[in-house]
Amino acid sequence: MGEHHCRFCNTKLTHTMIDLGMSPLANSYIPLDKAELGQMTYPLYVRVCDKCFLVQLETFESPQDIFGDYAYFSSYSPGWLAHAKAYTEKMMQEYGVGNESQVIEIASNDGYLLQYFKEKNVPVLGIEPAGNVAKVAVEEKGIETIVEFFGTKLASRLVAEGRRADLLLGNNVLAHVPDINDFVEGMHILLAEEGFLTMEFPHVMNLIEQVQFDTIYHEHFSYLSLYTVQQIFASHGLRIFHVETYPTHGGSLRIYACHEKSSRHATRESVAEMLGQEKAHGLQELSTYTSFSERAKTVKYDLLSALIQYKREGKRIAGYGAAAKGNTLLNYCGIGTEFLDFVADKSPHKQGTLLPGSRIPVVSPDEIKKSRPDYVLILPWNLTEEIMGELSYVRDWDGKFLIPIPDVRVL
Ligand SMILES: [Zn+2]
Repeated sequence: MGEHHCRFCNTKLTHTMIDLGMSPLANSYIPLDKAELGQMTYPLYVRVCDKCFLVQLETFESPQDIFGDYAYFSSYSPGWLAHAKAYTEKMMQEYGVGNESQVIEIASNDGYLLQYFKEKNVPVLGIEPAGNVAKVAVEEKGIETIVEFFGTKLASRLVAEGRRADLLLGNNVLAHVPDINDFVEGMHILLAEEGFLTMEFPHVMNLIEQVQFDTIYHEHFSYLSLYTVQQIFASHGLRIFHVETYPTHGGSLRIYACHEKSSRHATRESVAEMLGQEKAHGLQELSTYTSFSERAKTVKYDLLSALIQYKREGKRIAGYGAAAKGNTLLNYCGIGTEFLDFVADKSPHKQGTLLPGSRIPVVSPDEIKKSRPDYVLILPWNLTEEIMGELSYVRDWDGKFLIPIPDVRVL
């Protein structure tokens, strides 16, 4: 095996957090006419840096291959849309973002968030590398969108064109960037002198605490703590002045940052408080990371035990939610159609395909109503309440819900 070095600080990586085995790219859904063909798999091997504690995966595919024709459309989750709307209101009411401000979003997807700023006549610009997704933002929502990857090159070009961000934001993008130094330096370039930026990412503290190994997939290169992100930002002249927690994606951080010397944003208590919390949870000790793998195995054994028991009792089991995290869970646990008849998903883009690796058919949620399974395994466990509400009709035939993480539960 070759040598691996930390994506941020270049230290040689010698410690394993978890080896999830060989797995196809999580978003490479298989069209039915390709069902007989093979599929590339890549190691899903997570390492931790013993200097900066950045938890990371190696980059196997070029980002163009991964994100070029992305199957994920944010707008399909009502909970996520509500989160985006609340964000825009907060920025306008508490942070003075208004009609004079330039808002720029990195990884703006189909315009799920910028649409709310646009409604209030705040100038917006989206940056989104996936052409098929960006097209929806432009054609259906009228949001100007640059179809490109973000980094120092694009940032410098925008600044040369006289465009800088008073509010720069990116949700669930920092963790997906292969060259995190170029990305953060790009933000340093694009951010106006007294502007500020916000970034949301799943908090590695929750990943560890709640054994969320299924949030690990190839497109997700880094697993971040405030401790590590603060070091990365500081090395690019950015100061984190505030941090908040949100329940999204199993527990996320939203960080607020500005230029190091900005006088407009004093550093708040919240930053030291969160760093203290992380320290108390052992995030600055190597053993916290290296003991993770044993805990993931326990989840695998418990889930397989439950599924085997149900099948021996002659029960029928369906899955719900064909999201990336579901694919990691199914592939790591070795769950295929011998356990799950199908996985239902609302997105028409995924219906009629097979899940990568496990090759379980993806169908419309109507199929649950028709086939009345005894158990529904909820793969996006972070949306359990929302999904149980939508599928409440399962109770009509005494169906039950199965939640895999942090421990296997029947509801
Ligand atoms: Zn490092």
